[in-house]
This record gives sequence, C-alpha cells and structure tokens, in this order.
Amino acid sequence: MKDEVEFSCTSCGRCCHDLKLPLSVSEAKNWLERGGEIGVICDLMPWVDEPDPADKVSLRKKSLSFQARSGLLSVRVNPVLVAHYEGACPHLLSDFRCGQYDLRPLACRIYPAEVNPLQVLDPSSKLCPEDAWQSKDFIPLIDHGVRNAIEAMNELAALEVSAKANLCRLLSIKSAALANQGYVLHHFDRLTCMNALSELFELMLAGLLVPDQSDWSVITHRSETVDDLKSVGASFAHVHLKSPNQSLELPNLTYIGFEI
Ligand code: SF4
Ligand code: SF4
Repeated sequence: MKDEVEFSCTSCGRCCHDLKLPLSVSEAKNWLERGGEIGVICDLMPWVDEPDPADKVSLRKKSLSFQARSGLLSVRVNPVLVAHYEGACPHLLSDFRCGQYDLRPLACRIYPAEVNPLQVLDPSSKLCPEDAWQSKDFIPLIDHGVRNAIEAMNELAALEVSAKANLCRLLSIKSAALANQGYVLHHFDRLTCMNALSELFELMLAGLLVPDQSDWSVITHRSETVDDLKSVGASFAHVHLKSPNQSLELPNLTYIGFEI
C-alpha cells in the first residue's frame, strides 16, 4: 500500500451506511452492549496442501482461518464478526459525525485505507467522493493512528481465530459459502449473541477453547460447484438464486452468491 496517498474526508457519511463492519471479539461485545446487532460472515476454502512459504496470499488466508472439514474434504473456514445494517449505522448523527467517535471500531479508524497489507489501494473501489482525493487540504491517508489501527486489526484477526471458531460452535454455525463464490451472513437476536459471547469470554479466561469438530456444509448456487463437491465427498446445500449477486434468506442466515 502506498503511504504517500493523500486524502481529506468530506464527512459524506457514505461509509457509515449499509454496513458489514468487521469487528474484533471484544469490539463485538462492546457493540452489543451499546445496543447494536452483530452477525458472523463465513466463507471457506478447500485446503488439501500446505502453501509454499513464499505464497504470501495463501499464508495470510491460513492465518485468518481455522482448520475444519466438510464431509471428506479438508477445508479452512474464515469467520468474520460484523456489525450489519441496511441504511445508517445506529451511531451516525444527523450531521454525519460519529456518535461514538472515541469508541469507534478499528475498521472505522482505517477506512478508506486497506486493512490487508497485500492489497493495493484503489480509490475507485471506495465509497469516498472524488473530491476527497483531490482536496487542497489533504493529509497523508496513513498517518500514525491509521497505521496503528491497521496493525492492531491484523494482529487481532489472527489471534482471535480460535475464539471465533468456538463462537461458531456456541451459535451452532456450520455452513459457509465457497470463498470467491459468495458468503453466508449468520444473524441472531441480540440476546442470543450476548449469551454466546459471554460464554465465549468465560471459555477464553479458563483456557478452554476447543478445536472445531463440526461437519461444515458448503452452500452454493452453482451447479458446477455441486458436481465438484460431490466428487470430493463434501457436505453441501444447493440453493437457487433468481440471478447471481442476489441474496437468499433462510432461518438465521442470508446467502449472497456472486456472479462469476
Ligand atoms: S461507528 Fe461511527 S464511524 Fe463507524 S460506521 Fe458507525 S457512525 Fe460510522
Ligand atoms: S466515505 Fe470517505 S469521505 Fe465519506 S465519510 Fe467515509 S471516509 Fe469520509
């Protein structure tokens, strides 16, 4: 990522709408305690061979995921805790300032910079208006605070993989989309999430986190993928979308399938 990219936030508020805002485990607990809602986004990838030590992309994927199985297939599951909202974030004030600025999650402190150090920043992929990248008052996009937030978010994401695997178990989450084909958002009422997180913190404090033992089901909307999954003995569910990039609502989960 280029550190010299310059930027001036216009306070347009676009990045505070229609959220799937990644949260650490402790941020998720704080978010719930302040009246918000959370969900868990899951995708998975087949994982038969270990990556080459020079393959930084695969090593990063490995560091953010946990070992699991789907039927006879060895997979890695990538769980991401998110605050999810259609429309405005509940903390967004009418003048588009953040109502919990000092407590806002790391992801809010980083945007529009990239969290993934392997990802090159592309301003056209961001929600910010053009003048945010052209202002006369611009400042370096990645200052000391943003750099610290990026490091903290990456460190926590890798450190908390086992905790998130246990949270999936406590919430009986065992379905995911195939990475790059879509994702599954698992959502529950606030009380269910709060109880599961409280239990998770007790397990963490007692050092009682356990490895995943679920049989993960791969949800897919692609017939070709169904054939592939059958051929390797994976567990799967074939869902039908009216068109790709559409979502399908099932009890406690939303499946979004990408157009490929
Ligand atoms: S917490 Fe604040 S900065 Fe983050 S999305 Fe909500 S309003 Fe925006
Ligand atoms: S979308 Fe960009 S310019 Fe608009 S409030 Fe968010 S960071 Fe600032």
